[in-house]
Amino acid sequence: MYRTIADTKEAILSGKSVSAIVEDGLIKIDSHHHLNAFVEVFSASARIAALEIDKKIKQGSAGKLAGVIIGIKDNICYKGHKVSAASKILNNFESLYTASVLQKLLDEDAIVIGRLNCDEFAMGSTSETSFYGPVKNNINPNYVPGGSSGGSAVAVSAGLCAISLGSDTGGSVRQPASWTNTFGLKPTYGRLSRYGLIAYGSSFDQIGVFANDLEDIKVIFELTYGKDPLDSTSSKASYDVFDKQRPLRIGFLSEYMNHDGLDPEIKKKIELLRTNLQANQIEVSDFSFPYLDHLVPTYYVLTTAEASSNLSRFDGVHFGYRSEKSKGVEETYKNSRSEGFGQEVKRRIMTGTFVLSHGYYDAYYTKAQKVRRLARNATDEIFKNVDILITPTTASTAFELGSVSDPLQMYLQDIFTVHANITGNPAISIPFGQHSNGMPFGLQLMSSCNDEGALLHYAGLLKKYF
Ligand code: GLN
Repeated sequence: MYRTIADTKEAILSGKSVSAIVEDGLIKIDSHHHLNAFVEVFSASARIAALEIDKKIKQGSAGKLAGVIIGIKDNICYKGHKVSAASKILNNFESLYTASVLQKLLDEDAIVIGRLNCDEFAMGSTSETSFYGPVKNNINPNYVPGGSSGGSAVAVSAGLCAISLGSDTGGSVRQPASWTNTFGLKPTYGRLSRYGLIAYGSSFDQIGVFANDLEDIKVIFELTYGKDPLDSTSSKASYDVFDKQRPLRIGFLSEYMNHDGLDPEIKKKIELLRTNLQANQIEVSDFSFPYLDHLVPTYYVLTTAEASSNLSRFDGVHFGYRSEKSKGVEETYKNSRSEGFGQEVKRRIMTGTFVLSHGYYDAYYTKAQKVRRLARNATDEIFKNVDILITPTTASTAFELGSVSDPLQMYLQDIFTVHANITGNPAISIPFGQHSNGMPFGLQLMSSCNDEGALLHYAGLLKKYF
């Protein structure tokens, strides 16, 4: 029921009103309350929008997404609605404007049904650090959904909305997509405007899309990419659909496939895909990417540095939560931040402040920037020979809620996804298989920068070789 844009269109064509679609959606969301996917359901504004869109449909002036129900991660601004990044420090804060990407979807008459739960400030891999409590995986509610965009993944996977927006700084769209059997796209850095996305690591952050259908990912990408005067880092690169006459060129990364942490069943299924491709005379090649083990440390040095700067604006004066018991500016800053931020966010602000501090800057920050450049050069080199690289999205399937508490073990959940954020390349996770433990896992495809055309083409084509 309305799991995709096509389902929604079909319902409307068969005479269903958008208002009725919204009512169905609200009932369904209510019956999945236990998953804690939503921080807030925007029932009032969704109902008002539905009435407007029903009128437009009658007049023949409705947009391309008329009646499509979408959800937004709780770090994407929607004017007149609350946004908190799942943090106490922004509890009850209301957006003053709408994110550019969201505005483009609203202009096509999509309906925003609510804001979706996530890790606090998008820092995490399980969606357990939210001020509003953990999100549960709809496939098995004792398991985590992945993170940080866990609510966005679960809402789509459980059919509570057709499309959701998330953000991907190190894997937060692709990793939960892998663990909830959904499609999750992280476009090239700069492809989608970041205006109205609460900043975490600004040189890594990208808004990403979840859907149950690859076609829907394509539709949303094509409607949202492009230069935005409100985000100076947004790119004006063109988007070219893949030329189907081009020979296929696929690469695999040896260090990824041979990584100790990779689950044997996931590995086996990728090897089978490789064999099937070769059996069908499709060219596949293997490449070495020697920086794999350096990626997670590099990512955590650079993103914590950026986060320590980005999160300095939450001081108890300008936005959101203010400590009641403080006197004077200094005490207000200190207490508001101590009381308003959760443990993981504090850990990252402190780490970031440390790596940027005088005397340590060159040893950590400068060095990590150098590794970033090496990784980028090596990746560009590989893409001279192939259109896409195939890797696992995640090393394992989802695990039980509360079972990982060690920060380092948590950080390693992103081992295969941070590459695309460090280098800026686009990447997608597509549903790939079901593990003997009953949980799903995804396959990751990465293409060269701005070649979402190839990425989406191969994502559709590979399925017949699974
Ligand atoms: N899990 C990673 C982190 O905690 C990635 C988060 C993200 O992509 N927002 O930073």
